[in-house]
Amino acid sequence: MQPILKIDLTTGKTEEYQIPERWEKDFLGGASLAARILYSSLTRELDPLSPQAPLLFITGPMTGTSGPTTGRFVICGKGPATGLWAESNIGGFWGPELRAAGYDGLWITGKSETPVYLWLNGSRLEVRSAAHLWGADTYTTQDRIKEEIGEKSVHVCVIGPAGEKGVLFASMMCDHGRMAGRTGLGAVMGAKNLKAIAVHGEQQIPVYDLAEYKTLRSESNRKLREDNEAKILRDIGTGGVANYAEYLGAMPVKYYSQGAFENIDNISGAKMTETILTGRSACQGCVIACGRVVALPGDRSKRKGPEHETMVGFGANLLNDNLEAIVNLGELCDRYGMDTISCSNTIGLAFRLFEKGIITEKDTNGLALQWGDVDAIKELVNLIGRGEGFGELLSQGSRRVAAYFGVEEEAVQVNGLEVAYHDPRGVSGMALSYATSPRGACHNQSDYFFVDWGHTQESLGITYYERQAQAEKAANVARHQDWRTIFNAVVMCIFANVEPEMQVRLINAACGLDWTIEDMMKCGERAWNLKRAINNRMGLIRANDKLPKALLQPAPDGGSAGYVPDIEGMLIAYYEARDWDGETGKPTPEKLIGLGLEDIAKDLWG
Ligand code: SF4
Repeated sequence: MQPILKIDLTTGKTEEYQIPERWEKDFLGGASLAARILYSSLTRELDPLSPQAPLLFITGPMTGTSGPTTGRFVICGKGPATGLWAESNIGGFWGPELRAAGYDGLWITGKSETPVYLWLNGSRLEVRSAAHLWGADTYTTQDRIKEEIGEKSVHVCVIGPAGEKGVLFASMMCDHGRMAGRTGLGAVMGAKNLKAIAVHGEQQIPVYDLAEYKTLRSESNRKLREDNEAKILRDIGTGGVANYAEYLGAMPVKYYSQGAFENIDNISGAKMTETILTGRSACQGCVIACGRVVALPGDRSKRKGPEHETMVGFGANLLNDNLEAIVNLGELCDRYGMDTISCSNTIGLAFRLFEKGIITEKDTNGLALQWGDVDAIKELVNLIGRGEGFGELLSQGSRRVAAYFGVEEEAVQVNGLEVAYHDPRGVSGMALSYATSPRGACHNQSDYFFVDWGHTQESLGITYYERQAQAEKAANVARHQDWRTIFNAVVMCIFANVEPEMQVRLINAACGLDWTIEDMMKCGERAWNLKRAINNRMGLIRANDKLPKALLQPAPDGGSAGYVPDIEGMLIAYYEARDWDGETGKPTPEKLIGLGLEDIAKDLWG
């Protein structure tokens, strides 16, 4: 592998970090390797917004190789809202550009005295002032830095005003619309006074067996082009699943209090395609192109169309069926640099508390919060992004907002990360996905709703259980998590329906390995357990594995009416499948040693 460039923003010192060979084999790259590298830095005492906090931008062994959906990279650290392991996966072209500059990662520590941006041109690094960019939105910042550098093929990863203001769900953006949305690492970047990182490189990206890799790459991309799921994503985007999810009662409506949304047809992927879609966009080398380009009536400018989470979060979740308003709200979040899931979820909590009379216009500076009121939603997004008025409180995320008003149980979050928009009452596997994800209530560490819809992987032992089955699917969820951990290591997009047999062949060709599918799954399991150990070390205990109250109450209507997941029963079966200690929630020493994590076992158990 290529080295990682370590940059201390306090001292300005840099050094190349060579990844230990064993770690390359044990963890591959991406978030898994980052977990191994950062293990000893991530302590309970570490303030995620302090200069000491590390921020690791890391690629995978296939990043930039034009393999199936491999234009991606991951940003890792300690989550400012969760205090736990944080990782956020992002597409675009920045990751491939970094590898072409000769580095597989950038490891940032320290804090600059004044706002700066980094300009990495091959092996030459410049720290430039960003004083004139502080306060600029994510799109403007990218444009101005490109202009200043004067190099067309430069790619820039930036934060917006939200990251500068310490919004705990601030994100990072590259390539005009690709977001590392979840876990608030944009606030970590802002706390370092780091506005952006521009990269450009011209080196050949290393691949162990290029001839073999090229053959496999062509075959897998050809199959992916013809794949039915990929076609749906290309034709109607990720929002294409909206109607089916709503039909199943798997789409959160009115802040998770309803199971049906009668106006769903107004905010579906199909509706967007029929009315405002003008084009598609893709990350580097991706043949799927799930990204949407839209133009609103009376405005010919090209805009980013919302993906599924944004459509539901600012749509059904807030009883809003105005698609154009959702486009604008998604763009507003993007410009401020904020995660649309956490932002819309926290706004949903505010609406719920207002409805219940727990907060009033006194708290909101006179703003009435009525479901579906687009102007009120927009006002809150602006206040959050600017960290002003009531928005300053909301910018701390739903767990802290609910605690502030003494109603902790009202927040639909797990360990400080707001629940994504796949309701486990309609697709029960998501109950375990949310309760046990290393980064809080995340739908990407295991997008098990696809399995609950019937997308199995028999060669991995991921079989079908009825969508509302309970504990019997626990071992299946664990296997699915292990597999998805590989995606975040490689780094591939979870939308790529690539057969595991092909995936392991691509990994072997890229890395010079001779793995079987079992080896690949063990690699995923190793990293999943390592991330768990990191969280245990930072204070996570058995009691943290849970679901919020709203998801344990039956929805009154829709396709999941009357059902709740038996989360306790599921967790017991899950710990058994994982070989985790049922009392402490820690991986047992035997499990860790069996995965080659002897030092972690010693650290965790003494
Ligand atoms: S499927 Fe979409 S998000 Fe995934 S790599 Fe392709 S364009 Fe990017």
